[in-house]
Amino acid sequence: MLQVTPVRAFADNYIWLIHSPRDAARVVAVDPGDAKPVERALASRNLTLAGLLITHHHGDHVGGVDELLQNRRGIPIYGPASETIPGNPQRLREGDHALFPELGLAFEVLDVPGHTAGHIAYVGHGAVFCGDTLFSAGCGRLFEGTAEQMHHSLSKLAALPAETLVYCAHEYTLSNLKFGQAVEPDNQTAASYLARCRELRARDEATIPSDIRQERNVNPFLRCDDKTVKQAAEAYAGRRLPSQPEVFAVIRQWKDSFR
Ligand code: ZN
Ligand code: FE
Repeated sequence: MLQVTPVRAFADNYIWLIHSPRDAARVVAVDPGDAKPVERALASRNLTLAGLLITHHHGDHVGGVDELLQNRRGIPIYGPASETIPGNPQRLREGDHALFPELGLAFEVLDVPGHTAGHIAYVGHGAVFCGDTLFSAGCGRLFEGTAEQMHHSLSKLAALPAETLVYCAHEYTLSNLKFGQAVEPDNQTAASYLARCRELRARDEATIPSDIRQERNVNPFLRCDDKTVKQAAEAYAGRRLPSQPEVFAVIRQWKDSFR
């Protein structure tokens, strides 16, 4: 099992530090939107930054890259092939791999467009680092892609092995679950997950990682094939929604204006 340390940034971002299975003091940082909290975590825990993984170009994911690379020229950095990312990353697309041979770490890349046009996810060691595509009980907003693209991207993530740990980039779980209750008021798995997440947040602990099994059970955006979700979306839209991408598009719009 991968050892992963969360670093908090901004209001609700997580920058994940993935520890090398060969040397736990060496880490790869995922989506360092801010260098300062990363430097603090490295210093206080005696860790060495040995690489960077970037999922997409938004500032809260890449804002710390240049500063982190300043005294660490030559550490590997990987990013999406079709987006402009600071630090001159090796450009990856679906089927490519992010390799850190000295660290004993290797990740396969999935194209997951929707939130941004070139967003990628990193899959490996029983985990997925999915940036702003899949959140626990939610998904990213559609800034550059279509609902159809995002639905397809989320389907790929939902098809990962059920025990895959989901490391997303934001702590949005509680507000996502509140929306989920509006879509599926009788989802008991979601209700008990909400109770557990409330306890975690009351202690100021992360609800992340989640896992794919949990997301299939509680995340309305992964449940567009479910009868209740479909009926709720049709009631909201006031029309029939014959396909899953159409159901997805409606609940994404619904979430955008929720409360
Ligand atoms: Zn983003
Ligand atoms: Fe973000």
